[in-house]
Order: sequence, then structure tokens, then C-alpha cells
Amino acid sequence: MEAAQERLKASEEAVNGHEARIAGVVAQLESEQKEVERLEKQLKESTSVHKTTLESLTTAQKALERERTELLSELNALKEADSLRKNKEGNEQNKALEARLLEQTREVDNARRILKESEELRLQLEERQARIQELEHQALEAESQRRALHNQIQELRGNVRVFCRVRPTENEPAVKCAPDGSSLNLTRADGKENAAFEFDRVFDPSSKQDEIFEEVSQLVQSALDGYKVCLFSYGQTGSGKTHTMLGEGNGDMQGIIPRSVAKIVEASEKNAHKGWKYTMHASYVEIYNEQVRDLLKPGSSHSDKHSIVHKNGVTEVSGVQREHIDSVESAAALVRRASAARVVEATNMNAQSSRSHTIFMLYIVGEHASSGSEMTGCLNLVDLAGSERVGRSGAEGKRLKEACAINKSLSSLGDVFSALAAKQAHVPYRNSKLTYLLQPCLGGDGKTLMFVNINPETASAEETMCSLKFAAQVNAVQLGDGKGAQRRITTKMSAKSEDAADEKKEKPRKEKESGERKRKAISSSEPRKK
Ligand code: ADP
Ligand code: MG
Repeated sequence: MEAAQERLKASEEAVNGHEARIAGVVAQLESEQKEVERLEKQLKESTSVHKTTLESLTTAQKALERERTELLSELNALKEADSLRKNKEGNEQNKALEARLLEQTREVDNARRILKESEELRLQLEERQARIQELEHQALEAESQRRALHNQIQELRGNVRVFCRVRPTENEPAVKCAPDGSSLNLTRADGKENAAFEFDRVFDPSSKQDEIFEEVSQLVQSALDGYKVCLFSYGQTGSGKTHTMLGEGNGDMQGIIPRSVAKIVEASEKNAHKGWKYTMHASYVEIYNEQVRDLLKPGSSHSDKHSIVHKNGVTEVSGVQREHIDSVESAAALVRRASAARVVEATNMNAQSSRSHTIFMLYIVGEHASSGSEMTGCLNLVDLAGSERVGRSGAEGKRLKEACAINKSLSSLGDVFSALAAKQAHVPYRNSKLTYLLQPCLGGDGKTLMFVNINPETASAEETMCSLKFAAQVNAVQLGDGKGAQRRITTKMSAKSEDAADEKKEKPRKEKESGERKRKAISSSEPRKK
């Protein structure tokens, strides 16, 4: 029983246990049921929410679609509008372009027309320029013909030619040069009386050294043709005598002396092919207080020991150096040496006033082997001392003596010229060293040219008047009884060469012995024209 009881108890306990488990399961079921219900409710709720959401979404989608359609159509409309606008703008641009094109075409046409017109003008201008050139050429030719004829007349008359050179000044000038190139007008200091002068040439202050040389180069070259040529530079101190004769440096400012020597050396080289062989010698002397000094001998002083000798038509100063010249360089070196040796002293007029005359002498001997002709020419280039009167230059003591000597030789030169002008039987060449030295050039068969240099300043007007009067007197002088200049050529046989051909018309003049050869002296009475 007990066992049964026990079994019962166990069963009861088991039942209780089961019942408890069932109660638990039921409770669990109930809670699960509740959960299911909650979930169902929730689902239901969320479904309805979803449904609403879906509905609203669908509505929204529909709305969006509508909107899209609307936007699309709007876009299309806009696109259409845009393309329309663009077209319109394009048209406007086109129009503007067309307008510009039209304008440009017009401009191009205009430019073409102008170009054509200017081309026509250019052609006209060219034609006129050519005509002007032609006329200028003719005028130049006429002028050079006139000059050549004038020179010929002067030579026929045997006149001493005079060129006037007016130096530049910064002040108001008292001298006015006429455009004809041969006359000038001087206003005197008191302003009352004007004086007009005419010379063979008047060089105004703008004239350059090369223009001056251009005018005298033919004359210089005559020395090569057998003439005795003399060029003077006259004027008061500071008027440009040395500037004209010697100039400065080795370039454009070179004066007549260095240019002449170079020209003669070059010309002699050119003549060599015609069969002429030249030898040249130069001396350079200074005459100061009637004494001669050799400028080519360094350290030499003025002395009486040098005497002037005229021998066989050639003038020499005894005891002075004669240097052989064979090139332009050797000649230039000689000129430089001589100009450094010059006596230069100060006076009130010009700190570098030269109180002496300098004479550059070039002796030229030309030999023509095949014809046996010999020709002797000489070139004297003279830079005279200042022509001013003593009172004005303020010279005193020793310098007064110098000024007197200078004036003496200048007045002797004037006397020689007036005796020649008056065709006096006696010409006082021997009154001064200067005139005696230059006698062969002045005395008949030479060619003489004088440069009268003037300072155009009002303060110098009186001196200028004196210079111009002196020059006018010189201009009237006839050399060699109007026979004109004579060439000095001797020949031993009858002429065959071209040089001798010019001499056909020449008549015998004098006999000359030279070494073992006896030559027949012939000289031309014709004026030279080349
Ligand atoms: P002169 O020999 O007559 O006393 P210069 O030839 O020595 O005179 O001239 C005096 C100064 O004037 C020099 O310095 C010179 O260079 C200058 N001179 C003279 N003539 C001219 C000219 N035509 N052009 C430029 N300078 C000149
Ligand atoms: Mg001088």
C-alpha cells in the first residue's frame, strides 16, 4: 500500500508536475496567442500604413510623372524658344557682319582708288624728279662750262685768279656772300658805306676743305703738266690762312698743302702708264724778317746764308733740304715735320699768330723715255703772314720789327702786282725775299691763284676792307703780257707720243743743256684747258 500510496503519491506528484507543465505551456500558449494577436494587429496596422504609403507614393509618382511630362514639354518649349532666339541672334550677327563687310569693301575700294591715285602721283613725281635731275644736271653742266670758259678767259688774259674765303663766325657778320658764288658785300663798321666785291669765286663760311680743294685741284695738277704754279693764302691773322693752306689733322680738315701733295703723287702714278716717269722733291721754308729758315732741318735758325737762285727756269733756295717724295705717306710726314717747326708767336690778335711766311715748294720732273721729253713743273704753296696793320695787332719792340718786315714783304708783293697790272717795264721782284723767290711764277708764264681769307666779324670790317681791296687789285693783274701760262717741256726728237702731239703747235723757245743730251726747248703759248 505504501508502495501504492507511494506510487500514487508519485503519480500525483507526476500529475501535479504535468499539470504545472501544462499550466506553463497553456500560459506560454496564451502569451504566444497574445503575441500573435499583437503581431497580427501590428501587421494589420503596418499593412494599412503601407497601403497608405503605397497609395501616397503612387499618387506622388503620378504627380511626379505629370510634373515630368509637364517639364518635358516645357523643356521642349524652351528648346524651341532657345533655338528661335539663337536664330534671331544669328541673323542679327549676320546682318552686322554684312554691314561690316560692306563697309570694308567700301574701304578697300577707297584704298584702291587712293592707291591708284598715289601711284599716278608717284609716277608724276618720278617724272618730275627725273626732269629736275636733268635740269639740275644741265644747270651744273652749264655752270661748269661757264666756269671753264671763265677760267679760259682768265688764262687767256693771264689774270691772277683770286678766290675769297669767308671764315665762319658766331657773331652777326658784316659780310654777306651772294648766291652767285662770286660776289660779296661788306658793311663797314660805321654802317654808312657798303662795298661790293667780285672775285673768281667766293666761298661762304659753310664751305668745306674738300670743296675748296676741288676748285684748285686742276691748277695744282697743272704742275704735273709742266707749269709753274703758285697759290697764296692772304689775310689778317685769324682769318683762316693756315686753315686753308695746311688745315688740321689727317682727315677732312686737311688743307690745300697735304691734299695737293697727295693728289700729285696719285696723278703721277696714274700718268706712269702713259710712259711718264716723275721724280718729285720738296722743300719747305719759312721767311721771317727777310731771313730764310729751312723747316725740314731740325734746329735750324733763320739766316741770310740761304740765297734764292733761278736756274734754267727752276727756282731753288740754296742750302735748304730737298727731300725726295715717292708716296703720299712720305709727303704727309714731311708736311707734319715742317708744320711742327714753324715759328709761332702770340700777338693780341691771335695766340697762335704766325709772324712768318711759309712756302712749300714741290719740284716735279717728268721724263718720257720713248719721246725723250722732259718736263719740269713746280708748285709753290704759300701761307703768308698776317696782313693786319701794326697798330691794330698791338705789336711792340721785336714784334713791331717783325710786323714791319711782314708788311714790307706784303707791300712788296702788292708793288709787284701793281707793276704787273700797270705793265711796267720794271717789276720790283728783288725788293723782298718772298717776291724774288716767287718771281718765276709771278713773272709771266706761271699760274697764280690767291686766296683772300676774311674774317666776317664787324670788328674786323676795316681789315677786311683792306684785304678785299688788295685782292681786287691782284685780281686785275695780267701775267705774261696776256700770253697766258707756259708749260715748260723740252724734247729731243720730233713728237710721236700723244703728249708730244699736244705740243705740235708749240714753238721753240730756248735752248737747254741737260747732261750729255741737248734738247730742243719748246714751250706752249696756248692756255691749258683740261
Ligand atoms: P691765320 O692763319 O689766318 O692766322 P688760322 O687758319 O690759324 O688763321 O685760323 C684761326 C682759327 O680759326 C683756327 O683755329 C682755325 O682752325 C679756325 N678757322 C679758320 N678758318 C676756318 C674755317 N673756314 N672753318 C673752321 N675753322 C676755321
Ligand atoms: Mg696762320
